[in-house]
Amino acid sequence: MNSIFDIAEKLVKSSSLNVDEYEKLIDGFNPEIAEYLKIEAVKKRRSVYGNQVFIRGLIEISNICKNNCLYCGIRGGNGNCQRYRLSPQEILSACISGYELGFRTFVMQGGEDGFYTDEILCELIGEIKKRFPDCAVTLSLGERSRESYQRLFDAGADRYLLRHETADEELYGKLHPENMSLENRMECLKNLKEIGYQVGCGFMVGAPCQTTRHIAKDLKFIEEFKPDMCGIGPFVPHKDTIFKNEKAGSADLTCYLLSIVRLIHPNILLPATTALGTVENDGREKGILSGANVVMPNLSPESARKKYELYNNKLNTGVENAFHIAELKKKMEGIGYEVVVAKGDVVASPQRYKS
Ligand code: SAH
Repeated sequence: MNSIFDIAEKLVKSSSLNVDEYEKLIDGFNPEIAEYLKIEAVKKRRSVYGNQVFIRGLIEISNICKNNCLYCGIRGGNGNCQRYRLSPQEILSACISGYELGFRTFVMQGGEDGFYTDEILCELIGEIKKRFPDCAVTLSLGERSRESYQRLFDAGADRYLLRHETADEELYGKLHPENMSLENRMECLKNLKEIGYQVGCGFMVGAPCQTTRHIAKDLKFIEEFKPDMCGIGPFVPHKDTIFKNEKAGSADLTCYLLSIVRLIHPNILLPATTALGTVENDGREKGILSGANVVMPNLSPESARKKYELYNNKLNTGVENAFHIAELKKKMEGIGYEVVVAKGDVVASPQRYKS
């Protein structure tokens, strides 16, 4: 089991590697192996989802955040960030426009903003589900108590995105302030899964201090946790953080990892992220061609979009704008894919849910 091709083949056959093998696979990244894994990943994705690409309407509900994740542009400690919060009415309006445009999943993402209590969120989720019973509601609102996750689920939320950020405790500590812990993040993910959400984890590629060993641990965690969704995007520096002079993560490596994650879990919902589109022209198309099957155009009102600046130069005027959906459809058709009007739930497979 020495050659990188042997390892790649093992991944294709068994959807599982040990951490050392994942590390070798990442270290051995080269165009040929990337092409091989891409072809195999696309085959697997095609066997489950055909050539369909699911779209999600992303609504950035607030950039007010009590946390201070060191890489993030909207961290609470950033005094240069102009804060905003959408009202429940504004969020509902965004869903109404989104429905017209063909979105059947609404993703509410935001900083950890205390305004959004369980009570306010439950009422809002209930209203969205009542008006649009054929739609999924996805939340991405950070760490909350198990009771809170349960209430939001009972109110009708279907999915929850909470990137684990890194599966390595030491690296987690370098990217977050002392009052945050990997243990709590993982506990949240476990709770979300037990409650019954479709759950998404994920991480940044090329985050400061990240090594290939760290990424290998992320892949092993993803293999074992069996998430329904997985957000993987390059790190992009933000000017108001201590990491402002760090390099952005590589689009090619991100695409390689998308192929690997597709091969680990053929049924997973895998977005080609905005960050990927930000670091490279046509990054999103490359992501889809590497094994991703989801794109999340932005449905937030214009005024909010500019202020939800997680990182510098975040795209918001091209196909990442939900109102430019026709353009996105054309781009996807151009590479042989079809954007569909569908809720786009994960396809459960006995293989993925075996214990
Ligand atoms: N408060 C929510 C949403 C966070 S923003 C939560 O805690 O889950 C969504 C994701 O953006 C984060 O999980 C992080 O992985 C990513 N992100 C933040 N800053 C970034 C940066 N500088 N570059 C790339 N991605 C970033």
